[in-house]
Amino acid sequence: MSVVYSGEVTCPVCGAKTFRYVELLYETPFFGNVLIQSGYCSSCGYRYFDVDYAEVGRPTRVVFKPRDGLDVAKSLLIRSKTGTVYSPDLGFTLEPGTHGEPVITTVEGFMYKVVDYAERLKTLEPENAARVDQFIETVYRKVEEGGFTLIVEDPFGKSFIQPYRPETVVVEYV
Ligand SMILES: [Zn+2]
Repeated sequence: MSVVYSGEVTCPVCGAKTFRYVELLYETPFFGNVLIQSGYCSSCGYRYFDVDYAEVGRPTRVVFKPRDGLDVAKSLLIRSKTGTVYSPDLGFTLEPGTHGEPVITTVEGFMYKVVDYAERLKTLEPENAARVDQFIETVYRKVEEGGFTLIVEDPFGKSFIQPYRPETVVVEYV
């Protein structure tokens, strides 16, 4: 990974010079060179995130099967605003829109986000609290142990997983 640009520039929304903008270049095993642009304005809260690479626009499904906690801790999830992330065996789906914040994070960090959403759900639906607690417990265990499936689908191919071990990821063009 190399930092192409990093600095505070004029915010395109509010015009303050507090837009923290970063461009990162990743060399990925499946997508070639990927340019990630990410920005956040501390004045108005505006966020920007985009991913660019050669094979833009192809719908992709990225299937990630971490074998252990190291894969979970050291693999990166890049999720654009059009990416859906789900796990058939853990039983959750984060759709764009409702939970559509673009992110670049470790898979571990993402799983903690999933726990946050589950905690919020518990407040909204206290009658399901026991089931949600069980879910959260399972997520924590899988973060430690690996052995689950995480799938990222993106109609524009702008979401992917940068694996710690290449053999844990399969990319399908759908
Ligand atoms: Zn701003």
